[in-house]
Amino acid sequence: MGFLEGKRALIVGIASPRSIAWGIAEAMFEQGAELAYTYQNDKLKSRVEKIAEQTNSDIVIPCDVASDEEIDNVFTELKKHWDYYDILIHSVGFAPREQLDGDYMDVITREGFQIAHDISSYSFAALAKAGLPMMEGRDGACLTLTYMGSVRALKSYNVMGLAKASLEANVRYMAQSLGPRGIRVNAISAGPIKTLAAAGISQFRRMMAHVEGTAPMRRSITPREVGNVAAFLCSDLASGVTGETTFVDAGYNILGMAELASE
Ligand code: NAD
Repeated sequence: MGFLEGKRALIVGIASPRSIAWGIAEAMFEQGAELAYTYQNDKLKSRVEKIAEQTNSDIVIPCDVASDEEIDNVFTELKKHWDYYDILIHSVGFAPREQLDGDYMDVITREGFQIAHDISSYSFAALAKAGLPMMEGRDGACLTLTYMGSVRALKSYNVMGLAKASLEANVRYMAQSLGPRGIRVNAISAGPIKTLAAAGISQFRRMMAHVEGTAPMRRSITPREVGNVAAFLCSDLASGVTGETTFVDAGYNILGMAELASE
């Protein structure tokens, strides 16, 4: 029997088979969870339907997290299938492309800042809040995806680093607020993985090569490796863990003087 048997999870953030959320869906399905999905727009709908089919789900709901109405509608629709749910996966991040190319001070704008924070951080609290009536009273778990650019300054990551710092603070404040209601909130800080979102970051290929050459495990990581940790963190096996950011990055974040590590 899988350790997520009897749990129901809503997965937000699938765009392709390379998506981190796809690896999470596979891992959770393997551990016995029932799954429901959202998709950002019609272009992505058929891809999300594919993973839904592979995981015995027919719950696929539209949701652009920039819209309060669409966020509310997710739970109106979900309620037609399920009375309750146990797990929220938020695997969503976005900043306008020009924000992720060039020097931070040259490219930062008020609009770029607002969009990055709205889509990448606020949406986590907004989704959890809208779905709270369906999760309250259960041993619930919310999980989001972050990146080390929240705590270190990296070339090109720019305003996404600020948005991820906000997201990690969001995890702590949500954990404080939802803990008394039995709901845990955590983040995984993943190492670089080649996905559609990553393709928007200038120099991403060099970032990957650097990690593969210097991380303690001398390799990058896979969506499935993130998925396995996500499944654990959202299961009752992790019932004492909340408000945490757990690194799944082949150990890269522990290094100082990373350049020297591979010599
Ligand atoms: P991805 O492109 O597969 O997924 C990003 C998802 O965000 C997509 O499904 C997209 O539809 C969704 N999204 C963007 N704007 C949205 C909106 N307005 N409404 C609804 N959905 C929206 O890429 P990914 O790498 O799997 O990204 C998932 C998460 O993991 C992101 O938060 C990303 O920052 C984070 N992350 C990625 C890496 C990496 O190297 N790939 C590393 C660490 C953290």
